[in-house]
Amino acid sequence: MRPAPDPPMNPTPPRPAAPPRRVVVLGSTGSVGVQTLQVIEHLRDRGGETLEVVGLAAGRNADELQSQAQRFGRPVTALASPGPDAPSQAFDFTGPDAAQELIESVEADLVVSAIVGIAGLSATAAALRLGRDVALANKETLVAAGELVMPLLTAHGGSLRPVDSEHAAIAACLAGRPVEDVKRVVLTASGGPFREWPADQIRNATPEQALEHPNWDMGPKITIDSATMMNKALEVIEAHHLFGLPAERIAVVVHPQSVVHGFVELRDHGVLAQLGPPDMRGPIQAALTHPCTRPGSAAPLDWATLGRLDFEPPDEDRFPALALARRVITSSGGGGGATLNAANEAAVAAFLERRIPFGRIVELAAGALDALPPRPLTGLDDVYDADRAARAWVEQQI
Ligand code: NDP
Repeated sequence: MRPAPDPPMNPTPPRPAAPPRRVVVLGSTGSVGVQTLQVIEHLRDRGGETLEVVGLAAGRNADELQSQAQRFGRPVTALASPGPDAPSQAFDFTGPDAAQELIESVEADLVVSAIVGIAGLSATAAALRLGRDVALANKETLVAAGELVMPLLTAHGGSLRPVDSEHAAIAACLAGRPVEDVKRVVLTASGGPFREWPADQIRNATPEQALEHPNWDMGPKITIDSATMMNKALEVIEAHHLFGLPAERIAVVVHPQSVVHGFVELRDHGVLAQLGPPDMRGPIQAALTHPCTRPGSAAPLDWATLGRLDFEPPDEDRFPALALARRVITSSGGGGGATLNAANEAAVAAFLERRIPFGRIVELAAGALDALPPRPLTGLDDVYDADRAARAWVEQQI
């Protein structure tokens, strides 16, 4: 087991500076991206704060990107896959490196990293190399390359503000506390749509059933990850990198109401928690306005109707993904996160294409870790090598 490194526990130490003004949104056409733009409009209209959108990047949704660009005063745009019908001259950058090129050409104070999957890594790393503050939704960046990405913060002076609601909650509770004061952090998990299903039924769940999340309205990949609980496994690895904690000091508890987003247990047995409605606009806004607090864009919690808050341990027999996170963190040498992430991405895509049953997703992710021993990461090329190898292995098994 690796000893806990000793970085500051709060990845976003309070700064005296005013909130950022110039914002780039990567993945602007997705669930987090669209909500980020809604929050920016809310802050302008209700919060008395004007954030200037200076860049927008998307994957293939040319129409939505064009309409967003019009709405936000024609910022610089990047589209990875314009498709045959989209006028590519309508965008400043196109092609697989478009988002990274946008980052490298636009002056910005804050980059919202909300591309889904490993596709978000290169632009996020580019932003951190330029010393930008990054509001990070794209957890895959830290899962696959945390060993390489975290040192960029100290090397270039940027910061990471977690957008994942659990990590945002924990960062808020930590508020700069030293690592020795913290016994462990606890990530809450909704349990997903199959929380109460028997194992044999989970195994054969359909894409429609898996895409029906009880609490959150999110993009398809993270919704499937929530159903397998791989999302929580990825979040444990994300927390390991963000907060510098070993696996045994990162716990998961199932909390079906998704109102408590995270706990910090202190060594004096005191427990800090952050609560809020299950609405991503809360943590997105907190990341945009940090270190200030502005009038909320999400509806507040209604204590009169909240009723009860339940907690239960995760059932690792029916949801074996969590063990994979501990395995990646405790295995020496790095690279395991890139393998796990890529195998999972490939398996989720195959499930959504109805090429494998639901139960195969985590089996394939575990199998990739067995078949492909981790190699040390010396640069992003090693991450992409591990990523390609894991995807090829998964395809071979299918
Ligand atoms: P979506 O699938 O809704 O959106 C993904 C976004 O990424 C879209 O804008 C898509 O563009 C864009 N994209 C895909 N490939 C590329 C590429 N090669 N270059 C540039 N843009 C690309 O995902 P979510 O918004 O749900 O999730 C985004 C990230 O945030 C994920 O890492 C997820 O784990 C994390 N997250 C999401 C939460 C949520 O509530 N949704 C909560 C916490 C974390 P297009 O649509 O044009 O193809």
